[in-house]
Amino acid sequence: MTEFDYVLVGGGLQNGLIAGALRMRQPESRIALVERAGALGGNHTWCFHEADVAPDSRDWLEPLVVHAWPGYRVVFPNLQRTIDGRYSAVTSERLDEVASAAVRGGPGSKLFLNTEVSEVGTHVVTLSSGGRLEGRVVVDSRGPPPPSGRATAGYQKFLGLELELARPHHLDRPVLMDATVDQSEGYRFLYILPLGPSRLLVEDTYFHETHSLDRVQLRDEVLGCVASRGWEATEVVREEVGVLPMPWTGSPSVPASGPLLGGYRGGWFHPGTGYSFPVAARLAEFVAGRPPADLFGADLRRFAHEHIRQVKFAHLLNRFLFRWCPPAARVPIFERFYRLPETTIGHFYALRLTWPDRIRLMTGRPPRGLSLRHRLRYGTER
Ligand SMILES: Cc1cc2nc3c(=O)[nH]c(=O)nc-3n(C[C@H](O)[C@H](O)[C@H](O)COP(=O)(O)OP(=O)(O)OC[C@H]3O[C@@H](n4cnc5c(N)ncnc54)[C@H](O)[C@@H]3O)c2cc1C
Repeated sequence: MTEFDYVLVGGGLQNGLIAGALRMRQPESRIALVERAGALGGNHTWCFHEADVAPDSRDWLEPLVVHAWPGYRVVFPNLQRTIDGRYSAVTSERLDEVASAAVRGGPGSKLFLNTEVSEVGTHVVTLSSGGRLEGRVVVDSRGPPPPSGRATAGYQKFLGLELELARPHHLDRPVLMDATVDQSEGYRFLYILPLGPSRLLVEDTYFHETHSLDRVQLRDEVLGCVASRGWEATEVVREEVGVLPMPWTGSPSVPASGPLLGGYRGGWFHPGTGYSFPVAARLAEFVAGRPPADLFGADLRRFAHEHIRQVKFAHLLNRFLFRWCPPAARVPIFERFYRLPETTIGHFYALRLTWPDRIRLMTGRPPRGLSLRHRLRYGTER
């Protein structure tokens, strides 16, 4: 008999979700979760919209939610809009708590922290220490590979500061995009999460062609923007940075047998946002929803093909944004996006776009500056 039913390599978002879903759907499963850091989940705040996740997955997702709001706002030079629908946040600390308990709470299961994996095979995982773990299913979710340097992606890069303020901010819901900030470097916006009456997470975010990020400069930018809105920061509680690829090529591979590549490593993320929560939750539900012996087969191929179809359209949008669209035309493009029906906006975030959604996204008058001349110039320049 193999030692484990599931060996999960990498204790980030994807495998944290798989561990939680498995404990709910297959309480007796023997899980090994191997993470090279001292805790699971890294240093992130992941958010998701209500429509991003299947109602059936709520039972195992709900314990992860640290904050929830009744909707969100977007702010552009010519548009302010409030969109209803639950928007939830999950922190790394909570993922660590919930996923660790899910692994430790099961029979024959084990959590390996501070443990580096050197090789991942179909059924055997080799540790840097020389040890081996054997599993009926191996899921390799070791996060994104390093940027290739090839021009096949733009990037969503950001620096976020969690700030304690001297006085209440009076925000009742997150601001997903405030694009009324200086736009000299591609498309830029502030992302603001109200985490408490006088606590904010403020991220300065750029959609840009390069992946470099100047932490010192961005820190100053965030504090400058906060001050310009009349908020007085008394303490920086936490800082997080992210450089998320927004590719226009590449697709998840669909293996006939293991290991299953999960999360960013396997292409299970939204190319148009750089985020992976909705897709990772879907994959977790899929893995947990069938016994290990039935994981690889026609169902997985169908599941992956639906994802790939969505990914290909998102690649087209990225190509449009980064290759055809001059930086000055990007704010109007996002402003136009947020004028679309709420269902289309929701389907975009969930990576569940229908054909009518796609037509809505691709038709209409192009923003000023996006002439054919520009498209040709930007399409051939890089
Ligand atoms: C600051 C920040 C905020 C973000 N916010 C959001 C958000 O709001 N919503 C969203 O959907 N996405 C968000 N993202 C994107 C996020 O990175 C991905 O959504 C998600 O973390 C990817 O999950 P993953 O499991 O594939 O990889 P990761 O979460 O990166 O996990 C990979 C894990 O594998 C471990 N590992 C790597 N190599 C080895 C090895 N050899 N041996 C053992 N362990 C190993 C790593 O230590 C890590 O813990 C954010 C990213 C950042 C950086």
